Amino acid sequence: MSKPGESFESQIALILHSAGFVIKEQPHKVMYQGKQMGDLDVLAQDPLTDTILGVSCKDWHGQTPGSEQFSHLVEMLEFENLKYGIFASSGFIADTLPPRAEHVREKKGLNIVLLDHKEITKLKNFAYSKQITEIEDYFRTRLGLISNKKRTIGDEIRAQKAIVTGRTIECERSLPVNFWNESPRYIINNQDLLPSESTLKLEPYLVVDYNLHVEARHPGTGKLLKERDDSDIVIVDAVHGRILPENDPIFKHLKQYYTNAEVHLSIQEKGFTIRKTESSVNQREIVRMIRDQIAAQNEIRAYYTTAKNEEKQKIVRPRAEDVHIIGPYLIHVPIWDVKFHLGSKVYRRTYFGYDDDDVILDEMSKCQIKSCKHNTNSICIACYSTICDNHSRPCSTCSKILCELCASTCIDCRTNFCKEHKPLTVCGICKLILCQNCSTVECKECKTLTCSNHREKCIQCNDSVCDSHIIAKKYTLLTKNFCSQSCLNNFDEIYKSSGMFGKFKKIIRK
Ligand SMILES: [Zn+2]
Ligand SMILES: [Zn+2]
Ligand SMILES: [Zn+2]
Ligand SMILES: [Zn+2]
Ligand SMILES: [Zn+2]
Ligand SMILES: [Zn+2]
Ligand SMILES: [Zn+2]
Repeated sequence: MSKPGESFESQIALILHSAGFVIKEQPHKVMYQGKQMGDLDVLAQDPLTDTILGVSCKDWHGQTPGSEQFSHLVEMLEFENLKYGIFASSGFIADTLPPRAEHVREKKGLNIVLLDHKEITKLKNFAYSKQITEIEDYFRTRLGLISNKKRTIGDEIRAQKAIVTGRTIECERSLPVNFWNESPRYIINNQDLLPSESTLKLEPYLVVDYNLHVEARHPGTGKLLKERDDSDIVIVDAVHGRILPENDPIFKHLKQYYTNAEVHLSIQEKGFTIRKTESSVNQREIVRMIRDQIAAQNEIRAYYTTAKNEEKQKIVRPRAEDVHIIGPYLIHVPIWDVKFHLGSKVYRRTYFGYDDDDVILDEMSKCQIKSCKHNTNSICIACYSTICDNHSRPCSTCSKILCELCASTCIDCRTNFCKEHKPLTVCGICKLILCQNCSTVECKECKTLTCSNHREKCIQCNDSVCDSHIIAKKYTLLTKNFCSQSCLNNFDEIYKSSGMFGKFKKIIRK
């Protein structure tokens, strides 16, 4: 998957993601009889109805996608047997498309939403101001997706608690906020995890893009002796005036994404606090310092021979004015600082709002069971430990995920249960849980239910008895178990009356 913001496809995927749709594939190859027929740029799923949407994105600067491209999408949806689609263009959409969309809805039952530049801007603005339900409603109404899930009072309370609207903060230039203060996407049962404290920090950085050409020429002939080109970016913390080292996470993030910064961003506080720091450095001073530094680093030395055949050295020291600067750009970088208070656990996560895969600190990422340290994929609903695949024990009845320590497990078949669905039957001897399927064997003598570790079969009558009613007797080297004195007596009689070989056969018999 490409990085967010890098392509038009990703922008559309992000809008869908922000409305709660799950991005399944980007792109998705459409195969038929072993051949690739084409692709769908994004495949998304509505988690409430499990409906899959196929998305086609056209980023054709200056050209307007029309009937041919629309028909292609219809064909791809039909190959995949999908009933829902989105046709998005970064510019305009041919005016023959709305009636076509109407037609395929009537004749083929295909629901295709058309998105042009104007509609996409509207959706992006919803996303920036965190009007998530508006985006969700937008797609649900237009696609005709009805959610079966009824909203509960619990949902209402949670929604109101979570969203406390506050100030709106304006930013002149900023990386867009694509990801919010949500629970991490790698936790599969993340529906009920809400951060208890979250701050969106907007920190200012100065990005200075420069290039410099230096050359040393022969003083007599003018022949080029040596040259050097230097071009790179320098990022300065616009609060302290410090140049960021190249291994700084913010340097890496900004270097990759600063060209995607947007102008005049306004973000409203909704259930989180915005902390915007203003720049307090003198930009001209900083640029002068950077030019001086780059000029000094790029001194070159070359050797040449004079007309009199003398070896001489030429030193070229570039002037600060030779360093060409593009910018500087003062860009705010959105960084989330989010805390989850869950039961007795506290987790902190800090990550970039532009790309939540770019994580600075993540206390949820590793499994916490017995210092396991594998990657987390779920969270225990009882103790809130983050857990890996190996340590997760979903309840066999309701599928709620628990950790190894919190799940109740049948001692015989190892099936797991949550507290609510925990079987009430236990082994009468060890008191460990026995599920319904495994609690079928009782002691012939005392009728106690036992697990397979605490019972034996009588060799004579084949019935089971519990540990405390076993009668064991040793025959040469092997111990035999009996349910009762009468079974032992019956076995004994036949044993004693058989010959040597019969005795042997009898004791090794299972
Ligand atoms: Zn647990
Ligand atoms: Zn683990
Ligand atoms: Zn359960
Ligand atoms: Zn069982
Ligand atoms: Zn037992
Ligand atoms: Zn018994
Ligand atoms: Zn018996």
